[in-house]
Amino acid sequence: MQFDYDVIVIGSGPAGFSCAMQSSKFDKKVLIVEANDEYIGGTWINKGTVPSKALREAAKTIYKFHSQFGDEKGRKPYERFRMEELLQYKRTILESKNRKVKEDLIKNKIDTVRGYGKLVDNHTVSVKDHTDEVETHTAEHILVSTGSRPTSPENFEIDHTNILDYETILDITHIPRRITIIGAGIIAMEYATVFASLGTRVNILNNSSSLLPFLDHEIFEILQSSLKNKNIALHNNVTIEWVRKNDLRNCTEVAFESETDERLQVVESDHVLYIGGKKPNSKNIGLEKVGVITDEDGYIETDKSYQTSIDNIYAAGDIIGYPSLASTSFVQGRLAACDMFGIPSQDLVNEIPYGIYSIPEIAGVGLTEKEARNMDMDVTVGRAYFRNLTQGDISHMDEGMLKLVFDTNSLKLLGVHIMGESASDMIHLGQSVMHYNGDIRYFIQTVLNYPTFSEAYRIAAFNGFNRVNKAGIKYREILE
Ligand SMILES: Cc1cc2nc3c(=O)[nH]c(=O)nc-3n(C[C@H](O)[C@H](O)[C@H](O)COP(=O)(O)OP(=O)(O)OC[C@H]3O[C@@H](n4cnc5c(N)ncnc54)[C@H](O)[C@@H]3O)c2cc1C
Repeated sequence: MQFDYDVIVIGSGPAGFSCAMQSSKFDKKVLIVEANDEYIGGTWINKGTVPSKALREAAKTIYKFHSQFGDEKGRKPYERFRMEELLQYKRTILESKNRKVKEDLIKNKIDTVRGYGKLVDNHTVSVKDHTDEVETHTAEHILVSTGSRPTSPENFEIDHTNILDYETILDITHIPRRITIIGAGIIAMEYATVFASLGTRVNILNNSSSLLPFLDHEIFEILQSSLKNKNIALHNNVTIEWVRKNDLRNCTEVAFESETDERLQVVESDHVLYIGGKKPNSKNIGLEKVGVITDEDGYIETDKSYQTSIDNIYAAGDIIGYPSLASTSFVQGRLAACDMFGIPSQDLVNEIPYGIYSIPEIAGVGLTEKEARNMDMDVTVGRAYFRNLTQGDISHMDEGMLKLVFDTNSLKLLGVHIMGESASDMIHLGQSVMHYNGDIRYFIQTVLNYPTFSEAYRIAAFNGFNRVNKAGIKYREILE
C-alpha cells in the first residue's frame, strides 16, 4: 500500500521533534502535525521547560548580582528590575529556540502542517485547521505525542489574571511583592525560589505532609534550611477552603486549614500560582476509534519500544505518563523512530537523573542512602560541601552539598545527590560512572578541571574513603 508519508507525528514537542528528526536521518518522509498556529515545540519551548528556565536564569543573574554587590539605596530586586525586562529576556530565548527548531525541520526536509490532528484509521490522520478546513494524510507509521496540560483546581477558578497556573505565570506584567503557591512539587519549588530571589515574599501551601519525598534526606534538610533562609514560608498538610480576590485590600486571599492549626488562616498576596497535576491530551484524537488502549487516567499504554496496542501506532512523551520530562521525551521519541524502522536500539537507561531548577539547583541519580539501607546494602556515603570548593568561593555560590552513596566493599557508586550551583549539569558525571559500573576511585584517579564545581566529586570521594578507613579498612587496600 502506498502512503503519503513514512511517519506522521502528531504534536511537535520534544517527543515528536526527536522522532521526526531521527526518522528523517533514516531517509524517511516525515510530516509533523501541530495544533498551535503560532509555534512549534509544545510545552518544551513555549509553555514549560524553556520559558521557565529562561525566567529562572534572569532571576538568578539578578539574585547573584544583588547578593554580591547589594544596592546603595537598599532596594529589593523587584524595586530595581521590571518584569518586562525578565519577559524580554525570556522572549528572546523563545524566539531563537523556535527559529532553530523550524530551521532544523526545514534542513531535514520534514513537512509541517498546522491544525488539530486526529486518527481516522490506523494509517490516516485528519488535520483541521483554524478555518475548520479538514485535510487528511496517510502514513505507514504514526507517533502520538500530543503531550499534557495543567489540571484545574477543585474548589476555585483560575482567572489567569490574579490566580494563575504554570502557563499564565509566564506572562505576568510585574514582579509580585507577595505570591502564594498552591502545590509543592518540582515546578512549585522552582517558582518559589525564583520569586524569592527577586525579593518576593513567598508562601507555599502543600496539601501533603511531605515535600519532594524522592529526595535524599540530607539534601531535603539542606533544601528546608535554604527555603527558610530565603524567607519562604512552607505550610504542610493544608486544605484550601477558598481563594478569592479582595478588591478593598487589592489582593488575592487564600484561606486554608492545616493539621497543626485547625483555625482558618488567610494569606494575602498579589498573585496566587496554582500548580496541580497534569492531564494527558488524549481526548478527541481518535484513540478509541482505532483501538489505541489508554489507562484509566487517559495515558496511552505502550510497550518498551513505545508501540501502542496498534502495531504501527506509537506514543511518546507526556502522553504516556511518568516521568513526563522533556529529557526523557527526547529519548522516547527517538527510540520509537528506531523501532518503527527496524533499527536495533537500546532501552531507555535505568539511571534517569532528575533536575530541579530551584535556586540553587537540586539533582540526583540512583539510590538515596535510605533506599540503599532499606535494601540491606552495606553502604557508605561521602560528602562535599560547596562552601569548601574554590569555585564555590569564587562565584559566591557556596550553598549546597554533593553526596555520594557507594557500596562499602566494592566502592561501586550507587547514587549521587546534589544541591548547589550547576547540580543539573554536574549529575551527569556521576550518572556516567554508574552506567559503566564504576566505583568512586574514579573521582580521585581522574583529573578534573580546577577550579570547578565538579571538584566536589573528588572531595566527596576522599570523604567517603575516610569513612571506610575509619571502619577499619586500610587506606592502601581501598586504593588498590
Ligand atoms: C513549567 C514547566 C517546567 C518544566 N521544566 C522541565 C525541565 O526543566 N526539564 C524537563 O526535562 N522537563 C520539564 N518540563 C516537562 C516538559 O516540558 C514536558 O515533559 C515535555 O514538554 C513533554 O513533551 P511532549 O513532546 O510529550 O509534549 P509537549 O511538549 O507538551 O508538546 C505537545 C505538542 O502537541 C500539540 N498537540 C496537542 N494536541 C494536538 C493535536 N490533536 N494535533 C496536533 N498537535 C497537538 C501541542 O500543541 C504541543 O505543541 C516542564 C514542564 C513545565 C510545565
